[in-house]
Amino acid sequence: MLTKEETVTAIEVMGEIFPNATTSLTKTDPFHFMLSVILSAQATDKSVNLVTPALFSRYKTPLELANASRAEVEDYIKTIGLYRNKARFLIKCSQELVANFNGEVPQTKKELMSLSGVGRKTANVVLAECFGIPAFAVDTHVSRVAKRLGMVPKTSDVLEIEKILMEKIPQDMWIKAHHRMIFFGRYQCMARNPKCETCPLLEICPEGQSRV
Ligand code: SF4
Repeated sequence: MLTKEETVTAIEVMGEIFPNATTSLTKTDPFHFMLSVILSAQATDKSVNLVTPALFSRYKTPLELANASRAEVEDYIKTIGLYRNKARFLIKCSQELVANFNGEVPQTKKELMSLSGVGRKTANVVLAECFGIPAFAVDTHVSRVAKRLGMVPKTSDVLEIEKILMEKIPQDMWIKAHHRMIFFGRYQCMARNPKCETCPLLEICPEGQSRV
């Protein structure tokens, strides 16, 4: 396993390759950004960014979306995977925001996770991106990179990965570490054909060494 120091060094190296790593979802107000994150489950950020301008301009507030027709919302997002479920989540989540939170996006993980369509990863992304509250969202890229590099055991589940990374990485690095690991997973350490031969972390990577 990589030590704390090695883990931090690996994150720094990723930062050298991807100095501008940040969210690929269009940044908006917390309400709309949270909807974007819900829409991005099993869909690319690019596909989400294509549908959200029209959707958000039609539904500007939680109250408007809370009273929306499901068929109309589906129509706006039908190019995105799982759009029927997602339309239901968007409306229900907006209804809950209005009913339980005065139409404001809450700023705690527990409250966020009480909303329809908002799981642990979405809650962490919203806390970090909208409110600058340190949180570590584990997605498929973070999970793969952490396991390949030996930051976490291969058998770890999402919750364990989140816990271990939060222990190994200083809190003030969580948000940028999350972005760097996503970029690194997207463009260097891809699921199918990771670029191990050109990887600056090859020396400390057990998986890379077994591949080259
Ligand atoms: Fe990923 Fe290969 Fe780099 Fe290891 S050496 S981090 S497997 S790209």
